[in-house]
Amino acid sequence: MRSLQKQRAVVIGGSLGGLFSATTLRAAGWNVDVFETSSNQLESRGGGIVLQPDVLDALRFADVALPDPPGVASGERIYLDREDNHVEQLFMPQMQTSWSLLYRAMKNALPAEAVHAGETFVDFRNEGEQVVAQFESGREEQTDLLIGADGLRSTLRRRLLPEIVPAYAGYVAWRGLVAEPDLPLYAANTLRDRFTFQQGHEHSALAYLIPGDGDSTTVGGRRWNWVWYRKYSSEQLDKLLIDRHGVERSFSLPPGATKSDDVKQLRQDAKLLLGPTFRSLVDATEEPFMQPIVDLRAPKMVFGRVVLIGDAASVPRPHTAGSTAKAAANAHALALALSSTWQAGSTIDPILKRWQNQQLQRGKLMTDLGISLGDRLMNIAR
Ligand SMILES: Cc1cc2nc3c(=O)[nH]c(=O)nc-3n(C[C@H](O)[C@H](O)[C@H](O)COP(=O)(O)OP(=O)(O)OC[C@H]3O[C@@H](n4cnc5c(N)ncnc54)[C@H](O)[C@@H]3O)c2cc1C
Repeated sequence: MRSLQKQRAVVIGGSLGGLFSATTLRAAGWNVDVFETSSNQLESRGGGIVLQPDVLDALRFADVALPDPPGVASGERIYLDREDNHVEQLFMPQMQTSWSLLYRAMKNALPAEAVHAGETFVDFRNEGEQVVAQFESGREEQTDLLIGADGLRSTLRRRLLPEIVPAYAGYVAWRGLVAEPDLPLYAANTLRDRFTFQQGHEHSALAYLIPGDGDSTTVGGRRWNWVWYRKYSSEQLDKLLIDRHGVERSFSLPPGATKSDDVKQLRQDAKLLLGPTFRSLVDATEEPFMQPIVDLRAPKMVFGRVVLIGDAASVPRPHTAGSTAKAAANAHALALALSSTWQAGSTIDPILKRWQNQQLQRGKLMTDLGISLGDRLMNIAR
């Protein structure tokens, strides 16, 4: 039964943004329930994530423990050319983790009964100072705060800001994961302990090690994570997004969905454009997956007692390595702000407004940076 002493938040979306919201708000003394449309565990689809300080700060506040070490360290960044010559080398220590590791750590920190899988949010209505979230199943949930952490194609954002839609940036990210022992030794020796790039004309590749099965960070038990940004026209993208069963996907191609001819073409292009190291990554990947790069920025994040966070509010391009960090920072700042409100017993509206002003600014800086980095890398003039 709901505690009378605590305010309640309902979070839509059980991916990283939703779990950051739930764990930090619980630490701030709120009752939180998470509703996720997918009825399966989400963890099998995750790839690499640069572990940013904002993520660690949020998890510390939420008292969520990470494995030790929480990822794989790299000491330097190197840039390769088409023949694998090192054209640039920078000392830039950082740590890479995996989407799955963060997901599991936060999910395990929540009581099982607080996460409701297979519940699709469809709409909401205001009832005085309360919001009622409505689900496809017919379920209704009354709450003090409704948090939209439902990602790029957020139903909540579509309901509140129907004119804000993702805009295709003109290129996609092909991605893949390879078990550490499955890469030829010459490529492994080039990539190990490093964050490696190959910059070509209108394409760009990068690779690094991330934890493997069971969050393993031991040598041999990790995974190579690679990304290859490539330009496609909107017409080419539409064709690419028809999956191997002839289904038109609207957003991305998960592992196993790409048509075999398109995978074959990707491998042929890799022979032409990539050096031996990156080529061997593409060759060793059984099921490459693809995400179009899009731009999206909502002008508001607070609508009375409804808020948008993470990708639902704005989507920085992946060159910033910052969308997970932004989701963490949005959630952490919200929890900090709301913990003080509740203790004071005052209304939360001015606090939500202040939070919005700060977080909109954060989103703007990050999305601007992503657009400028991405357009320069891909030689796109706007
Ligand atoms: C399965 C998965 C794997 C990912 N892997 C990576 C990765 O490897 N590297 C990386 O950098 N980023 C990855 N991302 C993206 C990254 O997690 C986000 O950019 C960032 O963490 C912020 O995400 P978010 O939680 O705001 O949005 P998202 O991660 O997009 O999550 C939105 C969630 O809301 C759910 N949802 C959508 N609509 C509804 C609805 N109507 N009702 C209920 N639930 C709904 C979705 O199923 C999803 O779980 C991944 C996302 C997903 C979903």
